Amino acid sequence: MALPLIEAPAGVKHKRALLDVPVRELIEWLAQRGEKPLRARQLRHWLLNAGADSLTAMTDLPKGLRHALDAEFTPLGTRVVRRLEAEDGTHKLLVKLSDDRLIECVLIQEDRRRTACISTQVGCGMGCVFCASGLDGVDRNLTTGEILEQLIRLRGQTPEPRRLTHVVVMGMGEPLANLDNLLSALEMATAKEGLGIGARHVTISTVGLPAKMRRLADLRKQYHLAVSLHAPNDALRNQIVPTNDKTGLDTIMAAADYFFEKTGRQVTYEYVLLHGLNDDPSHARELARLLKGRRAHVNLIPFNDVPGLPYRRPTPDALAKFMNPLRQAGISVKVRKRKGSQIDAACGQLRREVVAS
Ligand code: SAH
Repeated sequence: MALPLIEAPAGVKHKRALLDVPVRELIEWLAQRGEKPLRARQLRHWLLNAGADSLTAMTDLPKGLRHALDAEFTPLGTRVVRRLEAEDGTHKLLVKLSDDRLIECVLIQEDRRRTACISTQVGCGMGCVFCASGLDGVDRNLTTGEILEQLIRLRGQTPEPRRLTHVVVMGMGEPLANLDNLLSALEMATAKEGLGIGARHVTISTVGLPAKMRRLADLRKQYHLAVSLHAPNDALRNQIVPTNDKTGLDTIMAAADYFFEKTGRQVTYEYVLLHGLNDDPSHARELARLLKGRRAHVNLIPFNDVPGLPYRRPTPDALAKFMNPLRQAGISVKVRKRKGSQIDAACGQLRREVVAS
């Protein structure tokens, strides 16, 4: 169900969003106005917990302070310009940033799970051949506030008592190419006084940037790592994932092993199945050999159609034949369920439609 485009309120464009102001800076700003650090906590509470989208709603802040804040900051810097809802409860939001660029985020609801799928960049620079997000390259990284605001907006779509249980960083962009901003956003998302989402319920998906994977491992957070493999050897992966040419599978696998050693968290390997390209049972056998001896989980993702791209998903029979060798090798494997397909829930598609129209 498509709702009409919601028009922008005037005048909010150039003010900095409050969630983009680091706590220390906010406390300093408050101190200069004779306000206690506690006010910073109140502000964050209103934004992160109470879902306030205006300063007027923040009734326990003195009026004078609210005016001073209003002169410099905006509570939220992004706006939801389109909201799509599929019959299976999946919501997709098209979000406009302060510079009028567009990003997407998705809420997936299943039983008690409320999973937010969020973006980290406008577009993507990795250029995976089948992916809609990277077709026009990357414009810029999202700020910490822009990442967090997606979570706030998606939580707003959940039924009372509004809450998110899981986060998957699998929207537009390469999360590890914007690691600092992502980490700050996740700090607030997982803090008790933030959004209170369990760190173990956060999954970061990467094309495979080894140095950043190692850095993430060294932080010893409980975040889960998913690596987009899509091929069991370099020759094939180079065709599908252009960045592989410089990196190579060995380096990526070594970084994934390092992540497991440091965090004890089993790595997930994602594998998008593209009919006739990487879905042959021989590829599955090769994948099984690659993962042998590793504690790994494989997530098979039948390709979601992208208009204009020549790829197709495998037939159910081909999918079953691909799974067999993996199962026989004792590898834990799942097929990702298709959610919200009526609303183009695959990343980057809605934005392309709107930008193109
Ligand atoms: N840059 C990150 C996040 C990408 S989105 C990464 O590469 O992991 C999360 C997953 O969806 C990735 O595995 C990505 O390759 C996959 N994906 C992208 N477009 C897809 C499509 N049209 N159909 C199926 N999976 C897709």
